[in-house]
Amino acid sequence: AKSSGRNRYCFFTHSMLETTQTRVMLARDMREAIEHENFEIYFQPIVDLNSNRIVKAEALLRWQHPTRGMISPVVFIPIAEANGLIVPLSNWMFREVAKMARRWRELASSPIQFSINVSPAQFHGDSEMPECWIDTCREYAIPGETIVLEITEGLLLKANDDVGGKLRALHQAGIQIALDDFGTGYSSLSYLKKFDIDFIKIDKSFVRDLETDPNDLVLSEAIVVMAHKLGLKVIAEGIESAGQKALLAAAGCDYGQGYLYAKPMPAAAFENLLREARAA
Ligand code: C2E
Ligand code: CA
Ligand code: CA
Ligand code: CA
Repeated sequence: AKSSGRNRYCFFTHSMLETTQTRVMLARDMREAIEHENFEIYFQPIVDLNSNRIVKAEALLRWQHPTRGMISPVVFIPIAEANGLIVPLSNWMFREVAKMARRWRELASSPIQFSINVSPAQFHGDSEMPECWIDTCREYAIPGETIVLEITEGLLLKANDDVGGKLRALHQAGIQIALDDFGTGYSSLSYLKKFDIDFIKIDKSFVRDLETDPNDLVLSEAIVVMAHKLGLKVIAEGIESAGQKALLAAAGCDYGQGYLYAKPMPAAAFENLLREARAA
């Protein structure tokens, strides 16, 4: 299993995590990995469905464990959330993304937006978060608008004044907010007008069967209509086929990401992609 390559997560399964011992061990390794900056950030392009140009990218964490191979964020993020490591990890990630955003600013024909997944634990566990991230943008001289924070419905559902205030502070600094995994959670919808949200991300579970399940198409179309009426833009994730892309574009969806375009890739590969796109 170890030799199965950097992009596969075969070695570590959910069932192995059921033992406390493994969780404790992973938490210890993670602490060390943060210290030594052994995490890596992959970038997945997000394209404008009309122009087919790369206009955004989602930053996704990767952990190449020294002995266990590549561990999925689905496995290590919950551990980081449970023991507070999510705060230093996210702060490190934000800084790295700001750094790359600065570096790549002149590479694209127009500046690319970078989205970062932010777990609720970051909002609840880090009192300095808005100021710290806003300062980081200043330090790297990137406008707040360069960054999109992807949050989930769960955060808004349990949002207190503190969470609302943090979201407002970020938004006032220009940092944009996307609602990730839309439609998979609680969907009370009232929070769409209560908070400053800029993008809705249609979850890949709706995109997967778009060509065969008429209900998924109806739902995707309805999400786009509603979002546009509220002044929000829509990003569809998990686009794997040209057919799915065509249906989403016809539905008026603004942006898309998925294996049809590219898998998440290391920074160097993403930089090459930007250079090629500029030359084309
Ligand atoms: P997500 O935010 O919903 O991210 C999208 C996931 O879909 C990514 O998995 C991405 O690689 C995958 N994906 C992209 N295109 C396709 C496609 O065409 N088909 C399919 N089947 N999958 C596609 P990944 O990178 O394994 O991340 C899994 C989850 O881990 C993310 O889901 C996110 O919730 C979490 N995560 C990843 N990085 C971070 C991070 O830096 N911070 C936090 N808090 N969570 C993260
Ligand atoms: Ca996401
Ligand atoms: Ca998602
Ligand atoms: Ca997610």
